[in-house]
Amino acid sequence: MTVLERGVRPHLIAGSARGATGPETIDVIDPATGETIATIPAGGPDDADAAVGAARAAAPGWAGRDPAERGELLKASARALRGAVNELAEIQTRENGKPLADSAAGVEAGIGAIEQYAEIGPLHRGAALAGSWNALDTMVPEPRGVAALIVPWNDPVAIACGQIAAALVTGNTAVFKPSERTPLSGARLVELMELPPGVLNLLLGDGRAGQALVEHPDVDIALHTGSVETGRQIAVSCGSVLGRKALLELGGKDALVIDEGVDPAWAAEQAASGAFANAGQVCTSVERIYVHHSLAEAFIEALVGEAQSIAVGNGLDPGTQMGPLVDDRQVEVVHRQVSEAAAAGARVLTGGEPRDAPGSFYPPTVMTEVEGSMAIMREETFGPVAPVQVVSSFDEGLELASATDYGLAASVLTPSQVNAQRACRELQVGTVKINSVWGGAPGGGAEPRGVSGSGFGYGPELLDELTQTKVIHIEPAPPAEGGATDAR
Ligand code: NAD
Repeated sequence: MTVLERGVRPHLIAGSARGATGPETIDVIDPATGETIATIPAGGPDDADAAVGAARAAAPGWAGRDPAERGELLKASARALRGAVNELAEIQTRENGKPLADSAAGVEAGIGAIEQYAEIGPLHRGAALAGSWNALDTMVPEPRGVAALIVPWNDPVAIACGQIAAALVTGNTAVFKPSERTPLSGARLVELMELPPGVLNLLLGDGRAGQALVEHPDVDIALHTGSVETGRQIAVSCGSVLGRKALLELGGKDALVIDEGVDPAWAAEQAASGAFANAGQVCTSVERIYVHHSLAEAFIEALVGEAQSIAVGNGLDPGTQMGPLVDDRQVEVVHRQVSEAAAAGARVLTGGEPRDAPGSFYPPTVMTEVEGSMAIMREETFGPVAPVQVVSSFDEGLELASATDYGLAASVLTPSQVNAQRACRELQVGTVKINSVWGGAPGGGAEPRGVSGSGFGYGPELLDELTQTKVIHIEPAPPAEGGATDAR
């Protein structure tokens, strides 16, 4: 895998490699071993300026191509990526620790998103208006211009593919800044896509490169998928430039409410999958559990069993079901929340201590006797922790689930149609899932609520976000004196 062996990775701007311009570099660490696997430049304002300049220069030519041609070029990129699924999956696993099969599923999902946007992009259209008989009135979507695409590390290829494809198929050009924790899969993705020079540019670096990018005067729209804290900074950066749009898909503190009458073993399987998949590092991971007292004991016992049965190890090992967290910084965040809750009276039934060995491992952890005032029940954890609060009624569970500033998603397990429908209406989140912690039909695009963000980051509606609509009114000029209306 040459991508991991090439020393300091360059940015890719206007189709060419651009080496580091400053002295500072950032190491990319394999979280399963703690080893440095590559180094990237800490891009700064000059690099952002070069990348945005290249995207701006390519913008008129790209916007002027037929949408169907842009779709065909993206389909060709998707074909190239299909031939490299294993390579991309392995790079991703080396960067963020995800088990290889999950990593490959993420890459496949990303390629699927490119194919879908390549197909539906050319069908994205405006509207004809009913104006005067002698006039033509239409609403036409146009590209916004240069898009800044700022991506996190937890499913980096999948998220990048969706943003890139939607931005490009609608006629925008882009500067893509992958997370500094997963830049190698991002770099390889751009290389493999082989788009015309300047259409898709790669800027490497951390938040400083991201900030220089979103604050660049020539950026028209910023798409950020990431944490609430960064989203807030990007909203401020974009808000200070009139006309610049920010699309923010941020973190969550998703609740799982378990009603009476539910099979406790099945509820435990659902809760474990929701809380421990990708080591809890999914934006819609289950982060708080409210279980009805009538099944609490059996549920908690089964959940502890689920947690203890998970094989934790290096994601490259085929037997691994849960890999490490992305890095030691993330382990610290998770462990701080767990230990503070324990010190305040919560009980840790299993897990709760980082592994004392190389790598950023944290075990699947189940806690009870937690309270709403604890960070573990209030702040996004983004780790493999299932904190369980026992409630006296479904109403109490629903009420506690809603007592949060976040608004990404929530799940409810219930045999009651009445309670299911109440949950769908009352939960103030972008996505409600009944009787499954995952799932959803293709094309689902939700608007996150509260501090979890704003706008559609997925689905066909993302094409609306990436275009701006112009109203056009055309009517014939009056005849010139003694002449015809329009001789041509
Ligand atoms: P992050 O916000 O720290 O970083 C995301 C990206 O923003 C990185 O590329 C980073 O370098 C960049 N960045 C950091 N500071 C910046 C600044 N001031 N200006 C511009 N760019 C900046 O998030 P993360 O830790 O990489 O990812 C985890 C977070 O992402 C979690 O909160 C998770 O819930 C969220 N997430 C949300 C979704 C969703 O669809 N809602 C999907 C995946 C992950």
